Parts: sequence; structure tokens; C-alpha cells
Amino acid sequence: MAYLSGLKEDKMTKEAFDSSVHEREKLNTFDNALKQFDIAAKILNISENQIAMIKEPRRITEVKLPVRMDDGSIKIFTAYRVQHSVARGPAKGGIRFHPDVTVDEVKALAFWMTYKCAVVGIPMSGGKGGVVVDPSKLSKSELERLSRRYFAELLDLFGENKDVPAPDVNTNPQIMGWMMDTYSMHHQQYLPGVITGKPLEIGGSAGRASATAQGMVFCVREAAKHLKIDLKSSTVAIQGYGNAGSFAAKLLHEDGCKIVAISDIDGAFYDENGILPEEAIKHVAKNKTLKGFEKVSKAKRMDDPMELLELDVDILVPAALENQITKENAKRVKAKLIAECANGPLTPKADETVTRNGIFIIPDILCNAGGVTVSYLEWVQNRMGYYWAEERVLEDLERIITNSFKTVLETSLEYKVNMRVAAFIVAISRVTKAAEIRGLYA
Ligand code: GLU
Repeated sequence: MAYLSGLKEDKMTKEAFDSSVHEREKLNTFDNALKQFDIAAKILNISENQIAMIKEPRRITEVKLPVRMDDGSIKIFTAYRVQHSVARGPAKGGIRFHPDVTVDEVKALAFWMTYKCAVVGIPMSGGKGGVVVDPSKLSKSELERLSRRYFAELLDLFGENKDVPAPDVNTNPQIMGWMMDTYSMHHQQYLPGVITGKPLEIGGSAGRASATAQGMVFCVREAAKHLKIDLKSSTVAIQGYGNAGSFAAKLLHEDGCKIVAISDIDGAFYDENGILPEEAIKHVAKNKTLKGFEKVSKAKRMDDPMELLELDVDILVPAALENQITKENAKRVKAKLIAECANGPLTPKADETVTRNGIFIIPDILCNAGGVTVSYLEWVQNRMGYYWAEERVLEDLERIITNSFKTVLETSLEYKVNMRVAAFIVAISRVTKAAEIRGLYA
């Protein structure tokens, strides 16, 4: 969150940060997501009935999870699962563990999953889960009990043909493994297709760990061709160094880009000669965050981590949380290309500003769709019980993402709209058609 990374020095509280930003721009993530929908729906001229079928989430579940802590006390955690749509297949989307999770955030994230699956044409719809927790404060066994309790409590919602979760911010393959085991134990059979992003040993897919960033790289390659940017002489800044951000750094570096800045919750680091992603990955593996990275590398710690977003680079990769580029800082963004590895990193006002300034956006629902695409391939493999080599998975991922990028780019040129609006035009058309063909039961 911006208030944690950007304003930590003057100890501004979350409440103070939220109210000061709210005065200037509305940062309700779900409202912002719906604004994106409305722009594309208007261009498509779809009817009120069609909108009613596909805009709002279908099911919102909130539960209170009692979890026994290591010291014997019991703590209650608030948790959600939102199923936005099941029009094109089972609900699909990750589970986030974060202290700032709200129902509106989970609704927005579930909404984006519906349109993300549609834009890349995989037969799934949108869902998302969240638990209000800071997992760094839990021991491994507390984390396991919380994860199992979440799945057990919501057991009836999930199923390989109903709703298939996956990792998201602060959740990982081990957590997916515990959840799959909980579901399988309840049903007294091995049911790996209920969740994706699992460890390889228990039905995970080759290529899933790097899939989000890999999909982004396939998009960036196409965008670079279109914009005539030479990746070999490009500079990159990456906000966030979790799964998406760290693999983004590694893969873009392998494509010849110079990674000049990276950041995470503990600060931002800059080196005009280029940061070695592997060095930073090793540092995080040892220390959990980038804290102290300036001591083991040539990179300098930036005074204000939010300035990373304003660096004069060719490619900016937001790979952290929502609402990072707002009305406030959008005018200072200098990158030629923004590749949204995070979900919802730009507010609608920021979107307008950067588009007006000629910056090319690869929108989240296309740019980070590599993750859910390989999740889909994992689910297919689970259903067959037959597993593919990494080359096969990557081949499918490249074809799906590259073709989707081309479709969205053609749509953007045809309708003379930015890539985000174009992606929603493609996705909304597909969801509307599916909902219409299925019709109304009863
Ligand atoms: N959490 C990821 C996303 O936002 C992956 C979802 C999935 O694989 O189902 O796209």
C-alpha cells in the first residue's frame, strides 16, 4: 500500500493517508473497476438487461475464522470469497492474505478475473478470496491452521466445476497444497483440480510459478514491436518484488533489458548501471524482503519509494497492489510503456492522464493473465491425470497471450481507444454472448 511504502518516513497512519487521498480522488477499488466496465459497455452499446447479467458479483460470502494460535489463544479472522460470474465456466481466481483486504477490494479483484479469463479466451469466470491478516506475523503452523480453516469453512463453494482458487498476494504453492489436502480429506479422495498453483509434487503445473511474469513478457515483446522499442537497450523500473515482480525482473533481464529500479514493502533501490535480478532474488530468499539490499549491491536506496513510478525509464512494471498511480502522480510518469503485472495499479483518473500523455498501457486483465492461463492448463492436466513438460506449457501460454494481445491491439486501433478499453470491449462481448446463449434458468 502506498501509505506503507511511500509515506513510512513521516509515520502517516493508514487512516490519515486514506482520508487525504479520498479528498482528492475516490479510491474505492470496486467503483473504479466498474468505471472501466462502463466505458467499454457504452461503446459496445449493450442493453440494460445484458449489463444486469454480467456487471455485479453473483455471490459474496463473508466468514469469521476462529484459529488457535501457538500460545493457546483463539483469534478470529475475517475472510471473503466473491464469485463474480460463472457464465463462461467455473469461478476462478486467487486468495489474498493481507491486512488491508476489504470486501470491495475482493469484489473488484473477482470482477477483473471474469474479464481476464474472457480476454484470453479460457473457459473460466471470475472469483477471488481474501483474508484480513498479516501472514508475516504468523508462525508456519498458525498459517497452516488459518489456510485449512478458510477452505473448510467455505468448502461448499469450491469444486473443480464450481470455483477454483489459486495464489495471490502473500499466498503460495504450500498454502494451495494445504487447501487441496483439506478439500481432499473432506471428500476422502484426491481432488487436485479444486485449486491451482499447487507444488509440482502434488499436481502443480510446470511453468506456473513464473507464468504471470512470463505472460507479461510475451505482451511486452509484442508492444515493443508495435512501439518500435528495442528491448535490448530498454530500461525498466519494477514496483513489487514478490512472485510477479521478481520473475518480471529476471525474465526482462534475460530479454536484454536493464533493470534500473526495484522495490518492495521495505524500500526502493536504484542503479543506473542495472540491478542483477538474481542477486535481489537471493537477498529476498535470505531476508524475506529487499531490506538492506543497498549493503550487498551497488544499488542505492531511494528516499521516496513512490518516486520509482516516476523514473525516466522505457518500461514501468507495477507489480504490487491497486491504486498506486493516481490523479496525483500520473502526470509525472515518464515511461513509454506501462506493463500492469499488478491488478488495478492505475485509478481511472490516472488512466486518462497517462493515455493523454501518449503512454502505452498493457492493462492488467491482459498483461498479468499468464498466471490464470497456466492455472487453467494445470486444471486441464489435473482432470486428465497426465502432465506436460514445461516446453509444452510455455508454447500454449505464448500462443494464447500473443494472440490475445494482437486481438486487443487490433480492437484498440479499430475503436480508437486505449488498450484497457479495448481489452474490456473484447472481454465484455464474450461474457455477454455466453450469458445470452445460456439464458435464464426459470
Ligand atoms: N491471482 C492471480 C491473478 O490475479 C492468478 C489467479 C489464478 O490463477 O486463478 O490473476
